[in-house]
Order: sequence, then structure tokens, then C-alpha cells
Amino acid sequence: MQIFSDFPLHNSIIKAIHDMGFEEPSPIQASCIPTILEGVDVIGQAQTGTGKTAAFGIPVIEKMTTAPHVQALILTPTRELAIQVSGELKKISKYKRVKTLPIYGGQSIGHQIRALKQGVQVVIGTPGRILDHIRRKTLILQNVKMVVLDEADEMLDMGFIDDIEVILQQVSNERQTLLFSATMPPEIKKLTHRYMQNPKIISINRSEVTAPLIDQAYYKVLEKNKLESLCRILDSQEIELGIIFCRTKRGVDELSEALQTRGYLTDALHGDLSQIQRDKVMKSFRDSSIEFLIATDVAARGIDVENVSHVINYDIPQDPESYVHRIGRTGRAGRKGLAITLVTPREMKHLRSIELEIKQPIPAKDLPTLEEITVRQKENWKNQIAEVIERGEDQSLFYEVVESLTDQYELKDIASALLRIAYSDSLPLNIEDSYDFGETGASKGMVRFFMNVGRNVNMSPQNLIKEISELVGIPGKAIGRIDIFEKFTFLEVPEDVAPFVYEALRQSRINGARVNLEPAKPRPPREKREYTPNQDRAKRETYKK
Ligand code: ADP
Ligand code: MG
Repeated sequence: MQIFSDFPLHNSIIKAIHDMGFEEPSPIQASCIPTILEGVDVIGQAQTGTGKTAAFGIPVIEKMTTAPHVQALILTPTRELAIQVSGELKKISKYKRVKTLPIYGGQSIGHQIRALKQGVQVVIGTPGRILDHIRRKTLILQNVKMVVLDEADEMLDMGFIDDIEVILQQVSNERQTLLFSATMPPEIKKLTHRYMQNPKIISINRSEVTAPLIDQAYYKVLEKNKLESLCRILDSQEIELGIIFCRTKRGVDELSEALQTRGYLTDALHGDLSQIQRDKVMKSFRDSSIEFLIATDVAARGIDVENVSHVINYDIPQDPESYVHRIGRTGRAGRKGLAITLVTPREMKHLRSIELEIKQPIPAKDLPTLEEITVRQKENWKNQIAEVIERGEDQSLFYEVVESLTDQYELKDIASALLRIAYSDSLPLNIEDSYDFGETGASKGMVRFFMNVGRNVNMSPQNLIKEISELVGIPGKAIGRIDIFEKFTFLEVPEDVAPFVYEALRQSRINGARVNLEPAKPRPPREKREYTPNQDRAKRETYKK
């Protein structure tokens, strides 16, 4: 086992690392620290949560002198990250007379200028504000000998590339350049040639580090009752702090509001908030005055809050990188974490592609049933009531009310009515009976669907069975009767998976062709047919055969 004192580091640094509670270097630290100390350019890639900050932070602090000018510049994509990195570097430099300063938009520039005048060795900032200071000549970079691009993939995604280029022109070419990132898309690799000299690539293979403490699971949910499904999941878990991810800012706002209406303590975090609002949200999350942070990818990137027990992908992440970034928000600092992904039928294929990329199957879980939730709720209610009684506070005001009611009502009814008033918002929602397909002419326990394509798109039964069993995760043989005609198809699937098949195949594509799916109409007696036009035409075709 390697320990930090194996590295050529001053005692003051070793002591500070000890105070931080780090026992041993993480893999990315073990490889990067000695290499960076040698003075070469390094590209470091490792999953989120693997300690990349200290991987560059330790050697950067080690190499600083106490001379009162800026010697290291660290660029981060967001202000939250700048603050976080700055915090970590402060801890590393605890016993060394080196000052670190975060510089970001939103904070008073006057304050930053005064702070810079005090003589700062390490500046951590977002590209925009750094440029601002360069233009005002309040930040002088001519003595900078180390530059770090943290979360480089994100910075490129956010279009910081031009800013970064301008900033780097201010720094001597003699500098040492370090680039850290959770992923290494080809665009980054290409760009590194421009900024770095013979960089050494240190990549910690995903499969080696895929955070083993993060349990992962996915739930199949229907698009139309996603929200209810989420609530049910939230109610079934012991959640200390949770981050819930949505795809868009609007999605974040809507979900946050919907959850608040249902009595959850949530707040929204995304790029449209003012800096003051963002600060406020992060503060209430850190001190646990809210239980759930609802966030977009970018807003939550790099957030490091220790007791996040759950990361929930309300919207499935767009790519495997984002999946890795998101789930890395839990299981911080060696704690346990659970990453949950909600997957709608149409997203099943997307889930499979993520699994493929992260080289890990994500286990499926069944939505907790209403009964399971109710059992938990009842326990909670009982505990809360018992707690109030045992606190023994003065209840005389309420006694009066109760007593005046007892003339008219049973005590049991009074108490139940009070419970309803107190808890009606937290009653579990019923999400059963999501679709009523009506009578479809299927065999018992099955639902029959009509599909508007057939042999004309080269569809074979094997084709269709494979498609459905992949989408829904049921064995092919569970699928019932399939009748493929020239221009349409009838198929039967088990009742319990029918809503999934319906959402998955409705307005989808098979063999490149647009597909529509609708519940089949039962074959009526000849005199009173009520076919939809499509199915009507389809039937006539059948009769012709
Ligand atoms: P990354 O930048 O790779 O996403 P961070 O640098 O934010 O990861 O580190 C994640 C967490 O792990 C932080 O809370 C950090 O303090 C902690 N950490 C870093 N290195 C170690 C270590 N060697 N031992 C224990 N905890 C560590
Ligand atoms: Mg980081």
C-alpha cells in the first residue's frame, strides 16, 4: 500500500493531508502526484469522485513559494467548483504560508481586487471572471508557472474554449499545464496539443474504479405516471439527502414545484438562477434544510456534499458520461450511496447503451406497491404522534377542541379526521390502472394491439419478439399470438406489460418505418361494426385473403 509520505512532499503538506483524513492516495493521486512533481504536463482522467482535486492540488501547493504573486491558475467551469476546489486547496495549504483565492462571476469585483492585492499564490476561477480581471490588469499572470484545467470536458462543452485560449496567451510558455477530466472525448484530446507539451496521459480505467460503493438500480416507469412513480420510490427509501436530475431547466422547476406541493422539501438548482439564489439553495442543501436538490447536469456538476445518500435520474442522462458524473454525486468520501434511474419504455434502449458503455449491468427493481408504501407511512405517522405525546407539551388549547367534539362524535372518528387533515398531502398516490385498453379481443390475461405496419417493412415475428422483449425485459415466449399481414399486424402481450409495450411502440420506429400502435378492437358481430378507419381498412384486407 502506498502512503502520502512516500511522495517527495514537505512535512507541512503531509501533516495537512493527515488532518484531512486521507489515509492513502486514490489511484489517480498515486499516479499523478509524483509525475506532476517532476514538472511534466499531465492529462489526468478518472471518474468523478476519485479525488482529482487533490491529485493536482497537492503538487500545486507543494510547488508554490511564499513570494506574493500568482504562481498557479486553476480554471473551473462553474463557480461552485471554483469554491469547492479553493476549499480543498486551503486545507492542503493549512500549514504552509500560501494563499488561495476563488474568483468567479457574481461576487463583487471590488472585493476580489482587494483580495488579489493581498498577495495570493493560487487563483481558482471561472474563465469569464478571470478574463475580466486580466483586462482590468488586476490579475497579473506573468509569474504563473502552473495552469490547471479542471473538468476540462465540461469547460469545452460550455463553450469556454475561446476564453481559455485568451487566458493561456497571458501565461508563459514555460508553464506546466495540467488537465483533469472525468471523460476524455476526442475533441479534448485534439485540443490538448495546442496547450500542452508532450503531456503524459494518466487514465484510470473505468472498470478499475467504478465506484463499488455506489449501488445502482433502475425502475421501469410509464411516461404518464412518472411523477407518481418517483414519489413512490422516494417514500420507499431511507433518504438522507438526494439529488434529483432533470434534463432541462424547465423540467427542474416543474418537478421541484410538483414535489413541494406534495410536501417534500425541495429546491431547484440550474443556470437561470442568480448567484445569490444558487448560493442560498446550496446552503440549504448543505445544512439539510431541504431534502432534495432538483438539478440539471451542468448545475450539479462537481458538487461535493458528503451525505448525499441518493442520486435519482428522474430523466435518464443523455450519455454515459453524464450518467457517470451524476451518480458520482453520491457515495462521496467513502460513504454508501444509491443511484436510481427512472426509465420509460421509450428509453429502454438508451439504458442498454449506457450499460454497455459503463460495462456494468444496472439491476432492475420493481416499483414498491401501494401496500408497501402504506405500511411505511403508517409507521411514520404513529411515530410522529407518539413523539408529540411524549414531549408532554401543554396541549390545553387542543383538549378544549377535542372535548367539545366528544359530545357529538366518537373519539376514534375525531382522531382519524385529524390525521386526514395532517397527512392528506402525504397519502401515497394510486398509480394502478394506468391505461384502460378496454375489450381488445385478446385471450384471457392478454391485451391485443393493432400495429399499422406489417410485412411491408420486412417485419418478421422474430423481429418483433426481439424488439418487445428487449424493450420490456420479458422473455420472448411470454409474448402471445402475433399475426403479421402485408400492411398491419396484430399482437398479444400479457396485461401487466401491456402499458409498457404501448408506450414503447406507440409512435416508434421498426426497421426504420414509423409505427403506430393502438389497442385492437374486438371482432364485433357483422351488423354493428365500429372500426377505426385504419383498422377497418386492415380488416377488409384480411377478408380478401
Ligand atoms: P473528483 O474531482 O475526481 O470528482 P474530488 O476531488 O471532488 O473528486 O474528491 C471527492 C471526495 O473524495 C472529496 O470529498 C475529497 O475530499 C475526497 N478524497 C479525495 N482524495 C481522497 C483520499 N485520498 N482519501 C479519502 N478521501 C479523499
Ligand atoms: Mg473534480
